[in-house]
Amino acid sequence: MATLEIHDLHVQVETDNGPKPILKGVDLTIRSGQTHAIMGPNGSGKSTLAYTLAGHPKYTVTGGTVTLDGQDILAMTADERARAGLFLAMQYPVEVPGVSVANFLRTAKTAVDGQAPKIRTWTKQVNEVLGRFDLDPTFGQRSVNEGFSGGEKKRHEIAQLELLNPKVAILDETDSGLDIDALRVVSEGVNRYIEQGDRAVLLITHYTRILRYIKPDVVHVFVDGHMVTQGGPELADELEAEGYDKYLKAARADV
Ligand code: ADP
Ligand code: MG
Ligand code: MG
Repeated sequence: MATLEIHDLHVQVETDNGPKPILKGVDLTIRSGQTHAIMGPNGSGKSTLAYTLAGHPKYTVTGGTVTLDGQDILAMTADERARAGLFLAMQYPVEVPGVSVANFLRTAKTAVDGQAPKIRTWTKQVNEVLGRFDLDPTFGQRSVNEGFSGGEKKRHEIAQLELLNPKVAILDETDSGLDIDALRVVSEGVNRYIEQGDRAVLLITHYTRILRYIKPDVVHVFVDGHMVTQGGPELADELEAEGYDKYLKAARADV
């Protein structure tokens, strides 16, 4: 069992014109066995939340707390966060020239487990998982994210999720740029991960499309740096039909 708890989180981004406040008091609790979706308009701060949880240096926490099973996530290095059981798939994955997918996966697995996986079983497992994402074994020899198509980046990310099997997965716009077949393959991977039963998922998305494949227990609406409302899966249908307009208007009236 795991609980990720975000309480009154305030974050600013360091820009060329100085710091800019983006997150304005985010509250969220996710427990094992739950899938939460965060939906919101562009520029509302969804990726900022993901980057903050990942410990990206450009994002400064100015208030609030984030804990995983009571442990202070914000005090940890990126490696320590991964070891604690947090997995983050980024909206814009970075290229790692000169590092092959196979080596990258092995290093990540070693970091998470605290020991290197047995090479024979690991190689077999990696090839099996890559195969499930329609990535052939030669994919393992390519440099991480270098020249990957949008679809390959996302397939690789969710293959990582399956191989590392973390307690909590945060997926930022895993659906963006995917054609319908890739969306299905990627969603099936996320669902295999969820179906283990005691895994927690935070699915950040701009569009409701992926929610036809991955069923959230809770849908949050995120506007202007904080959660404005939450509901069940039906809230996603309402957003699909009506957009974010009424939430944006309410946020403006608030200022
Ligand atoms: P979302 O993911 O919801 O579209 P983001 O978190 O990407 O939103 O962005 C929220 C706001 O923060 C936007 O106004 C964006 O321009 C600003 N922002 C985010 N990162 C940076 C950055 N590195 N430099 C300057 N502005 C940033
Ligand atoms: Mg965006
Ligand atoms: Mg984003």
